[in-house]
Amino acid sequence: MVKNRNLTNEQRSTKLQVSGIERGSIVDGPGVRTVIFFSGCRHNCTKCHSKELQDFSAGQEISVQQLIDDLKQDIKFIDGITLSGGDPVEQFDGVIEFVKQIKKLYNIDVMLYTGYNIKDLEHKDLTDIDYIMDGKFKHNFPSKKNYRGSDNQKYYKNVGEGKWKVID
Ligand code: SF4
Repeated sequence: MVKNRNLTNEQRSTKLQVSGIERGSIVDGPGVRTVIFFSGCRHNCTKCHSKELQDFSAGQEISVQQLIDDLKQDIKFIDGITLSGGDPVEQFDGVIEFVKQIKKLYNIDVMLYTGYNIKDLEHKDLTDIDYIMDGKFKHNFPSKKNYRGSDNQKYYKNVGEGKWKVID
């Protein structure tokens, strides 16, 4: 459902470096999702599954408005959008601008994957993020739990007022 449209010109033109978009994923958060892979990561996890996405210049630069336009085709078919990478937190200001704008337009949830721990993000505005999977990928801690690469990673739900609850 389309809600109010009120992007300023400045917000429309905010730039993001994006390596790719995957549609119809059922393994990157609840339900059916479109996954955006943001370029750049500093965590350098051993056996990183996305080594090429550690490069901050991988992929292409696109504006918040271009990304929103690209995702319009998906909205009817998805439960939410997943922010992956790389580490989307490395482009936090632009990423959160995108999240705020797309949530003003559509009733969808947003999940963030980050190699940082949630405590590292406590000074950032996470109001519009619904789920977080946090922590580096540790190849020697395999997991059978949903949606994650290693067992140390924790899956959080935003329960409001700046609080997060571990749900798995
Ligand atoms: S956080 Fe992800 S992309 Fe970054 S080094 Fe670790 S596994 Fe690779």
